[in-house]
Amino acid sequence: MHAQSQPFDQRIDVALHDVGLQRAMSGTLPQFIAVRSRVVAQMPDWEELRTRANAIKRETIENLPRYLDQLEAAITARGGKVFRAATPEAANKYVGEVMDRRQAKIVVKSKSMATEEIGLNHYLEARGVEPVETDLGEYIIQLAGQTPSHIVAPAIHMTRFDVAELFKEKLAAEMDPNDITGMTALARRVLREKFLEAGVGISGANFAVAESGTIVIVENEGNARLSTSVPPVHIAVMGMEKVIPKPADLAIFLKLLARSATGQKMSSYVSFITGPRRDGEPDGPEEFHLVILDCGRGKILKDPLMREALYCIRCGACLNVCPVYRKIGGHAYPWVYSGPIGKILSPQIQGLDVEPTLPFASSLCGACRDVCPVKIRIPELLLELRKRETEQAPQRHKLEKLIFRAWAWAMQRPWAYSLGSLAGRVAGDSISFGPVGIWKKTREWPATPARSFREEWERRRK
Ligand code: SF4
Repeated sequence: MHAQSQPFDQRIDVALHDVGLQRAMSGTLPQFIAVRSRVVAQMPDWEELRTRANAIKRETIENLPRYLDQLEAAITARGGKVFRAATPEAANKYVGEVMDRRQAKIVVKSKSMATEEIGLNHYLEARGVEPVETDLGEYIIQLAGQTPSHIVAPAIHMTRFDVAELFKEKLAAEMDPNDITGMTALARRVLREKFLEAGVGISGANFAVAESGTIVIVENEGNARLSTSVPPVHIAVMGMEKVIPKPADLAIFLKLLARSATGQKMSSYVSFITGPRRDGEPDGPEEFHLVILDCGRGKILKDPLMREALYCIRCGACLNVCPVYRKIGGHAYPWVYSGPIGKILSPQIQGLDVEPTLPFASSLCGACRDVCPVKIRIPELLLELRKRETEQAPQRHKLEKLIFRAWAWAMQRPWAYSLGSLAGRVAGDSISFGPVGIWKKTREWPATPARSFREEWERRRK
């Protein structure tokens, strides 16, 4: 799923030279950061909320099997069905069987990274079912034949000009790129029909409350509410880490999620879904299914050093502040999860071998850890993955080891260190080949001073 044919370093290179991408990213991400900072500054108890969320997540993840059993029992008692999928294939097969039984040919989907992860759209298309993404950003990238480039804002890499072009090509509509309202209205008209025709609605889930069996979906467009209530069947697909113990915990997580994701005090729609429609209720689906994905998470759960990655509530705040993500966007990453959280989830779910350099694509500045609403220590987890990758494939790091050995040797001998820095000063400006040449391609080489620090120190001392 989401296989990338080009090597990671080439995709980075392409992204850095993509003028449209750079324009789109530099326009939206600073706004995300600014509004988040503003609303967070209005919360005197922000740090306390983060600490409490971290404690709840830690306790839940430590006892995950028990909470999943409790969730399943509560949903089943309310007339819903729960399927635990060990693999993406098992999850897709279950959804496919529901489609067949209901003879559904159209499915409306609200935004879900879990279904991106298992490649559900491809699976459904191969079976002759039409999956229609109803979140505006997801709808745009589906029309464009792309994958999301951000957990929260899937079409963040596109400008309004790109979207106007796309609508012209795919919907035969002549749109003014400045008329964003008009483009939204057009998408809305197209999608309205699909809601009414669909036999099944598929959503993700932001949280699943173990005690009550309630699925919570947070959104801003109302499309998730329509997807989950208009079609006769609702299937929610979520990673097993989305469970939280009790309804009262939502008071903490909903405050953190909206502010971290979009800088809102509260998202426009928060839906609480507890099983299918019951007798006497005017709306809601006849059937409700929850598909809980393991798909590699069980492996992370068994790893005491790394299981903290499962605390993630997919707010996207770490992507917004990451200096790497902000330059290369989401499509350069090897899998659906991009940015700092992608760098710790992808190697663990897919294996370190798939993209061994991924944990190294970080400056370790710590901005991700500072904004994370559940206090995941992302830089520390990245360092642990780097250590594991180095141990797993020492041959890939031979040159690096040699350089550090030479450095350690020189640092213990002042004459060697002085000689080395003199050689560096002389050669620094002129070398533009080999590793130095590659380094210089994307960075400014600092102007070489006339005197070294030691020479300057001596001169001033005298
Ligand atoms: S790691 Fe933290 S900041 Fe990043 S998406 Fe997950 S919860 Fe949000």
